[in-house]
Amino acid sequence: MDRPIKNYLHLKPAQEKTLEKFGILAVRDLLWHFPARYENVLPVKSIADLSKGDKAEVSGKIIASKLGKTWKKKLRIAEIELSDGTGVIRAIWFHQPYIAHALKKGVNASIFGTVQEDGRGLYFSNPNYSFIAAKENYQENALSPIYPETRGLSSRWLQYAIRKTLAQLDPDAYHDLIPPEILKKYHLPNLRDSLLYIHTPRNLNDAQAARKRFAFEEIFLIQLSRVKEKMLRDEKPALSIVDTDVLDFLESLPYQLTNAQNKAVQDILEDLRGPSPMARLLEGDVGSGKTVVAAAASYATIKNGYQVAYMAPTEILARQHFKEFTERFSAMGEKIKIGMITSSECLKFPSKVRPNEATHISKSQLLRWTLQGETPMLIGTHALIQDKVRFKNLALVIVDEQHRFGISQRGRLTKKEKEVMPHLLSMTATPIPRTLALTIYGDLDLTLLDEMPPSRKKIITEIVPPHERLIAYEKMRQEISKGRQAYVVCPRINPGEEKADSLLSLNLKAVKEEHKKLAQEIFPEFKIGMLHGKMTPPEKEKAMNEFRDGKTNILVATSVIEVGVNVPNATIILIEGAERFGLAQLHQLRGRVVRSAHEPHCFIFTESESKKTADRLAALTKAENGFELAEYDLEFRGTGELSGKKQWGISDIGMEALKNLKMVEAARNEARILLQKDLELKKYPALKTRMENRAQNAHFE
Ligand code: ADP
Ligand code: MG
Repeated sequence: MDRPIKNYLHLKPAQEKTLEKFGILAVRDLLWHFPARYENVLPVKSIADLSKGDKAEVSGKIIASKLGKTWKKKLRIAEIELSDGTGVIRAIWFHQPYIAHALKKGVNASIFGTVQEDGRGLYFSNPNYSFIAAKENYQENALSPIYPETRGLSSRWLQYAIRKTLAQLDPDAYHDLIPPEILKKYHLPNLRDSLLYIHTPRNLNDAQAARKRFAFEEIFLIQLSRVKEKMLRDEKPALSIVDTDVLDFLESLPYQLTNAQNKAVQDILEDLRGPSPMARLLEGDVGSGKTVVAAAASYATIKNGYQVAYMAPTEILARQHFKEFTERFSAMGEKIKIGMITSSECLKFPSKVRPNEATHISKSQLLRWTLQGETPMLIGTHALIQDKVRFKNLALVIVDEQHRFGISQRGRLTKKEKEVMPHLLSMTATPIPRTLALTIYGDLDLTLLDEMPPSRKKIITEIVPPHERLIAYEKMRQEISKGRQAYVVCPRINPGEEKADSLLSLNLKAVKEEHKKLAQEIFPEFKIGMLHGKMTPPEKEKAMNEFRDGKTNILVATSVIEVGVNVPNATIILIEGAERFGLAQLHQLRGRVVRSAHEPHCFIFTESESKKTADRLAALTKAENGFELAEYDLEFRGTGELSGKKQWGISDIGMEALKNLKMVEAARNEARILLQKDLELKKYPALKTRMENRAQNAHFE
């Protein structure tokens, strides 16, 4: 499995390059490139025998090829003519101009799809095509696997390459990672059968069984590393926070905690009292009030004479927390010293001369105080992770917006202390389904903040059909004229559609074009700002400040509006190309404008006319809760559309497992049972290696 694929396949240099780009080097890489779906094999026919409505495949030579435009909508359209000696048939593709380049005159190709008819005769509309003729690789199988395609790697070629490789592999090559008793218990096929079933299924049941097995395998591997992490941590002693009475803190708050916040505080305090280190994930929508929960835990820790480290992903956010914590603790009459460290500045509260204010201090001074235990609380960015930052008795680590940190970054903060392990409170606003949380955060206990503070207005979300675009702009105009501000989020261009390296510039182009259109044609009377990933940090800060100060009325931005952006006066968000976002993301984006007593509005634009998209987006107008949406999202997005790999390091097939709570729980249980018997996986060296490789390569964003 680890041998290079070129031992088994004749590769042209260009093919080799493409494969390398997608990380397909060894046999294992190729064989673990799974089909996205299966299609019935179409009968191969002569063009002369075709009639309207046939589903068929024809092969021959391209005798004409051109790129045109439809006269009505000005869509680009590729058109070719294919001859097989018995006749000639047309094929057309909308929106895919590059096909005219690929299918040039004189090229041999196959075309397969449904035959249609218009005034000019029979034709294929948007058919599949291949340069590998059907007969070469079609066997008697009734199903044909369809692989996710990327430029330069067609599904047909993958089909051919995988079959050829499978045919040459020695039976000994199939070394099963999953222990046989587990396979038996869950009726999962062994590795060899699974690979054959998934790539060359005789029927859909076989294919499903194989997919289930690989899905299980992936989740099992993740669970092994998570559960191991948890077991190792549970063995470590922690500093026990004996006195967890935080009533005086809670009474000093200007509001009452919600029930969800109260429960979260209780969960956390109980963990802090315990003998082993807490590892808890606090998951709550933007604005659900996580900071005050973290503050209560910090207060208890500090009261017992220990130190707290609080890490946030951006400088803006670190400063915001520093300010909030100093104010909160001052409000209760306690002068708790707090330090702040980022790569550009260090602050401490209170200042010696002005006891109600913070002051700049040198980094070395702050580090000394921290080491001596002079500052019971240190807030900061990634700068906190540096080895130079040392504590006297660190008992609690808080990671805010934890999904923005790599898993190893989070780990390094808790591993600062050698003998005792600090308690860990991780916080995130990304609502994710339970199965996913159980998997990627399997080493953490979970507390949900599923309730918003009272007095928040419900956001009005409208899915705007194309012909009502101007009406939506008019509504925006009215709100802005009343003094409110708006975000316009440009459509995201997905990797896969375009080369990854040109993505950033494409997104940039979308922002620039949208900015120009809005400024010149739609809202010439307003000031319009711009925010995107290619701007320098000072440029970004300037754009943000201008928007925050109300100097710009509208901010046109990519979907990556910085976390910590908090402009309460912005009450409108307009999202373009919404079909390209996940529901949870859309929900996150609209959360940006639910921050004041003014009524928030969200306008959703989509270019898609499909019913599926319409249904999916409609969920936004019904569900208010991010978790509901996350579950819905997982349920209704097809494979291939899931962004699991990018966001969580989980493949499409692994994401399929996440639709199945039982399977995730089974994988978790089996991982636990195995590790309880053999924590170092001494009896399963191959499993250990794969688990470690996986944990290393999975990059969490
Ligand atoms: P997030 O969960 O997104 O981190 P924050 O902790 O920043 O949310 O809280 C958002 C806002 O809600 C803050 O201004 C905070 O003071 C306020 N807040 C938090 N809890 C409550 C509550 N129980 N009642 C009223 N306002 C609250
Ligand atoms: Mg927050």
